[in-house]
Amino acid sequence: MSTVHDVLVVGAGFSGAVVAERLACSGLTVLVIDKRPHIAGNAYDVKDKHGVLIHPYGPHIFHTNSDAIVDYLSAFTAWRPYEHRVLAKAGDALVPIPINIDTVNTVYGLALDESTIQDFYDSVRQPCTHPCTSEEVVLNAVGQDLYEKFFRGYTRKQWGLDPSELAASVAARIPTRTNHDDRYFTDRFQAMPKDGYTRLFERMLDHPLIDVQLGVDYLAYRRSSKAESSNALKALHTVFTGPIDAYFDHCYGPLPYRSIRFEHQHLPGIPNFQPVGTINFPNDFEYTRTTEFKHLTGQTHSGTSIVREFPTDQGDPYYPVPRPENEARFKRYAALAEQEVDVTFVGRLAQYRYFNMDQCVGAALKCAQGIVQKFPQQTPNIHTTRARRHTA
Ligand code: FAD
Ligand code: UDP
Repeated sequence: MSTVHDVLVVGAGFSGAVVAERLACSGLTVLVIDKRPHIAGNAYDVKDKHGVLIHPYGPHIFHTNSDAIVDYLSAFTAWRPYEHRVLAKAGDALVPIPINIDTVNTVYGLALDESTIQDFYDSVRQPCTHPCTSEEVVLNAVGQDLYEKFFRGYTRKQWGLDPSELAASVAARIPTRTNHDDRYFTDRFQAMPKDGYTRLFERMLDHPLIDVQLGVDYLAYRRSSKAESSNALKALHTVFTGPIDAYFDHCYGPLPYRSIRFEHQHLPGIPNFQPVGTINFPNDFEYTRTTEFKHLTGQTHSGTSIVREFPTDQGDPYYPVPRPENEARFKRYAALAEQEVDVTFVGRLAQYRYFNMDQCVGAALKCAQGIVQKFPQQTPNIHTTRARRHTA
């Protein structure tokens, strides 16, 4: 393979890996780099030293309503059906979240059913025609008391902001149920990659036209003297999936990204720690939630491994912070990005969007199509994904 690749992809997470795979299947040579020592970005999973498969960057559950995205990813993995359930601590009780009939009945000692729950919500909600903030979204749905019990404290911990300071879209991720459905997600497809996310990425990047180099920081390299004299990271086109403000040297000031300190723990000899995958702690502790990985992965083991999430401003950027002033700053960076004709920005950090994994895959598939059109002379590569389909 020539030293100068057709395309350099910065970041080996979902966004970068999908773009790389699609471009390689279109006949382009691709170099994927990541500053971390592993592929898979934040979806990376690995066995801890006790042999339990964990997600070092927090729990990742795949869910989508897009058949096309499932179809695409199924070329690289079989699936283990899994429906995530979350309980939240309210006083001494653990109750379903999103709020459903059972949540309300347990919290208030009521016996509501599907015919009476909406009347209850109507009696407590604070109607708002066009909710603009996360506070307004929740008050509009369930009123002050349930807001205080389940949303205000959690959100203040998670974001370091009051829900009144966050865009409506954040709390709108969590619906209010008028039935007994206690699943966290209602997407048609909910599953975990059978052999884990990292294995899925290994298969995705295992293509003769893809090279992968880990432990390489593109921005540090760009600043170094090597950048001028070497062809190492030169390419006709670059796809950047890191933070967009960092790419432009924070020239309009830093975009806030929220981080998390993950405290992992192995509990030997304890087969099960908690009744469901995740428990949320809206008003207790400094951490927001605990997740027990064996629920997600279905692994059997004599012990168990859990993670507690402590949100923080320090550390790796994990979450864009959806609020109007950040969106305005992002738009200024996006305008600079438009002028970079040989660079495409895609992904949760580069597009500054609170994307789930399936949304990253969708955005990356679209992005790859656009790039292929810039290289019209290429013929489709014979190593198509269809030949590598995995069956459940
Ligand atoms: P990333 O995965 O962040 O990948 C970007 C990569 O670029 C990183 O590996 C980074 O090291 C690399 N990079 C950055 N800058 C440079 C540079 N200068 N040089 C070289 N490399 C660089 N989504 C779901 O659908 N379901 C879930 O249950 C879920 N749970 C989540 C839980 C947590 C705690 C978090 C933080 C996210 C969760 N997500 C979930 C979202 C999911 O992680 C993202 O949608 C997805 O992983 C983003 O993929 P990406 O490729 O855009 O970014
Ligand atoms: N949220 C909350 N209480 C909960 C669960 C969620 O207040 O019990 C709010 C909080 O602001 C959180 C947002 O809803 O950041 C989105 O929750 P989600 O579980 O989707 O967050 P993620 O898994 O992306 O961290």
